[in-house]
Amino acid sequence: MTIVAPVRAQELPSRMPAFLDVGHTYRALKTEIDTAVARVLESGSYVLGAEVDAFERSFAAYCGASDCVGVANGLDAVRLSLRAAGVGEGDEVIVSAHTFIATWLAILDAGARPVPVDAEPDTMLIDADGILRALTPRTRAVLVVPLYGLPVDLAGIRDVLAARGIPVIEDAAQAHGATLRGRRVGTLGDIAAFSFYPGKNLGAFGDGGGVVTDRSDWADAIRRWANYGAARKYHHEETGTNSRLDELQAAVLSVKLRHLDDWTARRRAVAATYAAMLADIPGLRLPVVPPGSDPAWHLFVARHALRDELAARLADRGVQTLLHYPVPPHRSGALRGGFGNISLPVTDAICATCISLPIGPHMTTADAERVALATRECLADMDRVAPLRSAAC
Ligand SMILES: *Cc1c(COP(=O)(O)O)cnc(C)c1O
Repeated sequence: MTIVAPVRAQELPSRMPAFLDVGHTYRALKTEIDTAVARVLESGSYVLGAEVDAFERSFAAYCGASDCVGVANGLDAVRLSLRAAGVGEGDEVIVSAHTFIATWLAILDAGARPVPVDAEPDTMLIDADGILRALTPRTRAVLVVPLYGLPVDLAGIRDVLAARGIPVIEDAAQAHGATLRGRRVGTLGDIAAFSFYPGKNLGAFGDGGGVVTDRSDWADAIRRWANYGAARKYHHEETGTNSRLDELQAAVLSVKLRHLDDWTARRRAVAATYAAMLADIPGLRLPVVPPGSDPAWHLFVARHALRDELAARLADRGVQTLLHYPVPPHRSGALRGGFGNISLPVTDAICATCISLPIGPHMTTADAERVALATRECLADMDRVAPLRSAAC
């Protein structure tokens, strides 16, 4: 039997959206951005100037936090957040098992040990009860990832963590603008790390990152560490590094920030179209939104036991898909030595079945409908070949 009403080939659309189109926002804002870039070039000030100050202020305000510090990239933002939270040699950091590897690398760089907690199967986010079970006397911090732009809700355990003096860090590289009960990601923990890599929801024309916090003492420290550990030029009281957001990127980000909410609304419309048109297809599992949240939908990640076949059939119809992520950090070649034996079954299952559909501000609702129709049709074809009812994931 067929699982969905078949769509005739001539009804199938020919034009499919790209998976990602990082040039789209430039084309949409060309005049504004060109003006900002020219202003920086003519200013003669390219590092640590007025543009970075202005962007830091507006991004902090956007998130609803007191401070933002621009840094060189998202990985540095996580690293510096961990250092501010006091994480060092020999500490344990409880971390989302299901994430991009950068999250774990930042912990390892600090000489600390990642203690992964498996994902919750519906939202694919770190399981809050699992965090409590993973606590030990060596736990120095909890690093959660609002993956795909879905906020992590730790309200139920914040008191327990606070009583033990354990700070919560958000790796918010995928979640600019997401909200939970009206508060933005970036303010749900003690400090948050953002990436402004071009493909992120708020992206520069190169690398960039930022740390957001209400702890002004932490922000001040990060500002020093990111600039060679000097509070005053050439007076180095602490070891530091070079991790600065440059003026050009900051000027571009300030322009783009003014449009972020419109772009997020587009992403939400695409996600809503997918959710409506792909509901109730046996074997296809859609992301479940955490209650009270409005995600930023960096990615729309569905799951299917035969996702490789689905991806191939979609590719034949001109629909690009990607996998986020095919290999979890604990099985990555770089880390397997230390983590190959731990059991993270939900994370493993997600990585084996995930398939990301196109989403982004470059897409219209009609684009999303075409992708959803093609997906329905591919799954109907697969169901005709071999019924998919039992292919749960
Ligand atoms: C992109 C990303 C990072 C790293 O950001 P960069 O700017 O590339 O260094 C870290 N964590 C997560 C979850 C990411 O998606």
